[in-house]
Amino acid sequence: MPQPTYSFVIPLYNEEDNLPELYRQLSRLFESLDGDSELILVDDGSRDRSLAILRSLQAQDARVRYLSLGRNFGHQIALSAGLQFATGKAIVVMDADLQDPPEVVAQLSEQWRAGYDVVYGQRLSRTKEGWLKRLTAYGFYRLLNRLSDVEIPADTGDFCLMDRAVADLLNQMPERNRYIRGLRAWVGFRQTAVQFHRPGRFAGSVKYTFRKSLALAINSILGFSKIPLRLATYLGLFSAGFAGLMMVLTIYWRFFDRSPNSHRLEGFALITMGVFFLGAVQLICIGILGEYIGRIYEEVKGRPLFTIKELGGLKPLSNPHNTQTHAVPLAKGLY
Ligand code: UDP
Ligand code: MG
Repeated sequence: MPQPTYSFVIPLYNEEDNLPELYRQLSRLFESLDGDSELILVDDGSRDRSLAILRSLQAQDARVRYLSLGRNFGHQIALSAGLQFATGKAIVVMDADLQDPPEVVAQLSEQWRAGYDVVYGQRLSRTKEGWLKRLTAYGFYRLLNRLSDVEIPADTGDFCLMDRAVADLLNQMPERNRYIRGLRAWVGFRQTAVQFHRPGRFAGSVKYTFRKSLALAINSILGFSKIPLRLATYLGLFSAGFAGLMMVLTIYWRFFDRSPNSHRLEGFALITMGVFFLGAVQLICIGILGEYIGRIYEEVKGRPLFTIKELGGLKPLSNPHNTQTHAVPLAKGLY
């Protein structure tokens, strides 16, 4: 089969009630798109009839392919698995519960045709989601934005269309704790947003439990920020400042203050100074360890050193997949 224009990668976990409707809407969408499509459904260890439905969809429609993971590995891993199998020139990532409306894909593809490499859906509103989820999501995206080393756009999920070149890069990233939205932003290239109103689930209940959402949030911050590692250094500096203040007070009381009452706190200040000074020494030492661990962490993540958008008059490097040198240069559409 020739390379399809679009690959739709959809991870799903226990979505039996959504699959028939998802397939119905997608096959209608496929007719309206300006190229062939393939549908790659990733069963993330479902325990319901999802896999049986995937088998029958695949039997009746050659554009449908699926893979079924050995157990529930979680959404980000399932998505990573699906991306490895996608063959299209553009890859559309969406959820199985129709919260990422198929009709928005036309706009994503329009922007891709206009030259963008990543077009992500940005949520204008979230109807039918509880206030707690909306509030935590709102706060989390803004916190992540402040902490993160790369700019990860707020209120975006995994719903996006990405060019083959970007998908190739994601596939080459060896890191195991995968926060796809972050990696997608890290890659760079030309990115733009398409805003949409996020509807509620078509059917079924949320599969992202609170625990899974929290794990994702922690993962994203640890994967894209050095600030938590620096916390010890900051606390140590604060502690050192406090010790310094106590030292000034002790000296002042001891040598300069002649009023009779002030000496009462002198011993207290001396001991406090000692405690905070020792605390500062320890925290700063932990901070130094943190800096080294941070570097080790950077190295083991093994992200490419840089990405290349375009080459002029240069030959593509012969070994773009060499992650051992930590440099995986890749030009758009060249490999
Ligand atoms: N999902 C998955 N594995 C999981 C949890 C969720 O593949 O362990 C899929 C789920 O079937 C859906 C998508 O990830 O297609 C988003 O999950 P959900 O709708 O529960 O979360 P939301 O992002 O809407 O809160
Ligand atoms: Mg959902």
